Amino acid sequence: MSRIAYVNGRYVSHALASVHIEDRGYQFADGVYEVCEVRDGHLVDEVGHLARLRRSLKELSIREPMPEASLKLVLRETIRRNRVRDGIVYVQVTRGVSRRDHYFPPASVKPALVVTARSMDRAKTEAGAVAGVKVITLPENRWARVDIKTVGLLPNVLAKQQAKDAGAKEAWFVDPAGFVTEGGSTNAWIVTKDGIIRTRPAESGILRGITRTTALRMARDLQMRFEEEPFTVEEAKAAREAFFTAATAIVTPIVAIDGQTIGDGKPGPVALELRRRFHEFAEISKD
Ligand code: PLP
Repeated sequence: MSRIAYVNGRYVSHALASVHIEDRGYQFADGVYEVCEVRDGHLVDEVGHLARLRRSLKELSIREPMPEASLKLVLRETIRRNRVRDGIVYVQVTRGVSRRDHYFPPASVKPALVVTARSMDRAKTEAGAVAGVKVITLPENRWARVDIKTVGLLPNVLAKQQAKDAGAKEAWFVDPAGFVTEGGSTNAWIVTKDGIIRTRPAESGILRGITRTTALRMARDLQMRFEEEPFTVEEAKAAREAFFTAATAIVTPIVAIDGQTIGDGKPGPVALELRRRFHEFAEISKD
C-alpha cells in the first residue's frame, strides 16, 4: 500500500510529497510540530497535543494554518488513507514560503502544513520496550553549538524580528556575564575609547565569520590597533564606534545600541574605512 501525505491542502503520494526549498522550516527551522500516538485507530492525547501545538504557534507568532476542527479532520483522513491502526501521526507547521530573509515574511504568506501518518508494529515495539533499554549522558548543550553554521536559526530569526519591531537592523546577543557575543546574522565589533578595534574571540560563543577573519587581516595589514577580546554592552555603548560584519553586510557601521547614540551618532571612520577597502583584502575568485 502506498503512503499518502497531506501537504498544504492536498493529499499526495508520500514518495512525491515535497515542500518548497524556501520553506522557512527548511531554511530556518522556523516551524513547530506535534506527534500523536495512534492506537487501535484512535488518536491518543489529541487534546493535549493540539493544545501544545496552538501554544507553540502562538509563542512564535505563527498563524494557525486552519481551524482546529478542520485540522482534526485532516489528521483522521491522513490516518485513514494510510490505514494506520497502530502508529503515529505527525503534524508540522512552518511560517511558510518566502524569499530567504531572517525577518518574518509579510502577513500575506500563509503558514505551511504537512501531516503524515505511519504504522508501527505494536508487538515489536512493545517487546523492545518491556525488555528495557540503555541511555547515555551528555552535557546539556541544546543548542550551544553556535560555532556551526546550521540552519537551526529560530533564535536568530526571533531576535532579528525583535530588532526590526524596535526599528533596528540587528540584535546583539549578550552572554550571562554581560559580554556581547554576536548578532543574529553578523559578528559584533567596537572601536574602544582608546581607538582599539575589538571583537570577541571566535573560540567562544560565536560563529567564526569569514568576513570577520578578512576584517581582522585588514586591520593587521593596515596596521590598525586591534584585539580579539570580549566587550560588555556598557563598553559598546561607550565606544567610539560600533559595527558588524557578514558576507551580506560587509562592514556596516552602527549608530545606536538600545537607542543610545554611539560616538557622534554618525558612521565612524574606522568602520567606513574597513568597508571601503574591504574588497582589496578579501579573496576574489579568479574566474
Ligand atoms: N554570525 C552569525 C550568527 C551569522 O549567521 C553570520 C552570517 O550569516 C555571521 C556571524 C557572519 O558570518 P560571515 O562573515 O561568514 O558571513
